[in-house]
Order: sequence, then C-alpha cells, then structure tokens
Amino acid sequence: MTSATAPGKINLFFEVGGLQPSGYHDVVSLYQALEIHETVTVSASDSWGISVVSDLPEEHVARVPKDESNICIQAAYALASYAGKATPEPMHFEINKQIPVAGGMAGGSADAAASLLAINQAWGLNLDRAALLEVAATLGADVPFSLMGGTALGSGSGIRLEQLEPILQLHLVLVLSPAGLETGAVFAKFDELQLGIKLLDESRARSLAKDLTAGIQNPALGENTMTMAALAMVPGLQDSLNLDLRIGAGHMSGSGPTIWFATRNLPSAQRALQRAADAGHKAILTSTSNLGARLI
Ligand code: ATP
Repeated sequence: MTSATAPGKINLFFEVGGLQPSGYHDVVSLYQALEIHETVTVSASDSWGISVVSDLPEEHVARVPKDESNICIQAAYALASYAGKATPEPMHFEINKQIPVAGGMAGGSADAAASLLAINQAWGLNLDRAALLEVAATLGADVPFSLMGGTALGSGSGIRLEQLEPILQLHLVLVLSPAGLETGAVFAKFDELQLGIKLLDESRARSLAKDLTAGIQNPALGENTMTMAALAMVPGLQDSLNLDLRIGAGHMSGSGPTIWFATRNLPSAQRALQRAADAGHKAILTSTSNLGARLI
C-alpha cells in the first residue's frame, strides 16, 4: 500500500479571458493551497477500483465516480502511457475526501496529483517532479498546481505556473453549496454572457500576492470574473455571497460554487463558522497551507 496527499485550493484572484482557438480560456489565477486535502491510498488489485471515505455531506460523496472515469484511474493510465508500460497492473484507490466535490476547489485535481505520486512509487517508475508535472498537465488545468501547492501564479490556460513566496496564513470559512457545478458548464455560461476580460493583466495578481506576504489589504483579494456565470446557474448562491460573517466579504473559488471568507484571526474565523451554521449553511473551517502533494 502506498499513500499520498494533495491539497485543495482556492483562487485568491481569478481573471478569465475570451475563448482561444485552442478551445481553452486564458486566465490569470492566483492559486492558494489549503490545509484541507485528499489522501489517496493505492494497492495492487484484481481489477481497477475506487472507494471513498469522507465526512462531507452525502450529496458531495455521491458525485464521485466509482468507475474508470474517476480521475485517479485516468492518472494511472496517463502515467503508464508516459512510462511506456503497455499492460499496467490494476490498482485499487481509496480516496479519503475532504475537499467539496464539484465546488471549484480542485478536489478531483488533488486526487489526480496524489495518485500520480502514489502510483509512481507503487510501480517503481522513479519519474521526477518535472515528468510528473508534464503528465499532470494532460489530466486537467488544476492538476499541476495540486502537485506544486503553496501560492502560485497561473497563466495561459492555468497550467503555466510560477511558484510565489508564501503568504501570511489566512483562516478561511468555506460555505458549501448543495449544488455542484461542472467547470465546463460554467465556462459555457461565461461565454454565453460574454464575460471574458479583453486584456488580461498579471500585475494586479502579482501585487495582491506581494501584499498578502506582508499582511497588507488589497482590494483585488477575491476578484473572480466567473462569479456572474455561477450566479446565473445556482439560485441561492447570492445568499451565500451576501452572508455577513463579520470577517469581510465572501468570494467564489474558481468556477464555484464554494464561497470563501478570510481572516488572519482564528477566533474570528471560528465565530464566523458558527454564524454560517446558524444561518443554515454547511461550512468548513480551514486555513492556507504552504504544502503541495507528497507521499506519506
Ligand atoms: P476544479 O476546481 O478543478 O475545476 P472542482 O473542484 O470544481 O474542479 P471536482 O471536485 O474536481 O470539481 O469534480 C468535478 C467532477 O469531476 C465531478 O463532478 C466528477 O464527475 C468528476 N470526477 C472524476 N474523478 C473525481 C474524483 N476523484 N473526485 C471528484 N470528482 C471526480
């Protein structure tokens, strides 16, 4: 048995451009890893398989595919093909899931990143980080970041990554939505509503990241051009955004619909978590992390 873990993420800043001829959107994304993480344990088996253990609400766990479409199995196939392994032996994946599913927090991507590390070890492939990052980019735009972790600036389709200096720790209240959103569907709505930014500019994301390392307030924190598209798809999401948790405004992560609230003060975050629960929301307390995916 081999286990690996990989962090969830929020986007501290997310600006999306128009659809490119490649079929992808250009983005400027300030990725931030979180303490909530996935743990994937792989073991040799008679057939490919998935099991999930989780304390998340049942509607989240139910969204995880248990067949070969699961990104853990896709990651193993991609690794086998990269390493020239013609007949990869079937593996079982046990996913310990903490990251909300279809929530804009890269839970599937974290599973893929953890699977790449665990399978690399279990099969004795000895691929280095650079090779794993290459395979990660073929699996999804957020998978390379899940491997890298910490704080990073993403550009291009999101897979061009630059690791940045760690920010001062933030405590976060994540307000879950009972609805899930498929990233592709939110981008389709985004295109339909013509929300794409004409000229993407990395400089605002860079200055936000710099301010966050020094604890300086910056109004760009939480800007996300996907928000209008997600609001058009999830009735009730505005209520989560409007919540007054007394730690500032709510912001959407990635393509949504998870909403996050941030503070540097842990007791304030704990009180905010209680306020969200009192208002009838399912919410999680976590904080930012400087870690990426790793074998455990
Ligand atoms: P991202 O932020 O990377 O765009 P997300 O966090 O919004 O993604 P995920 O939790 O990764 O969304 O799930 C998106 C979809 O991926 C799920 O609805 C499910 O159909 C599919 N999926 C495949 N494998 C997994 C997995 N291991 N865990 C969760 N979802 C998976």
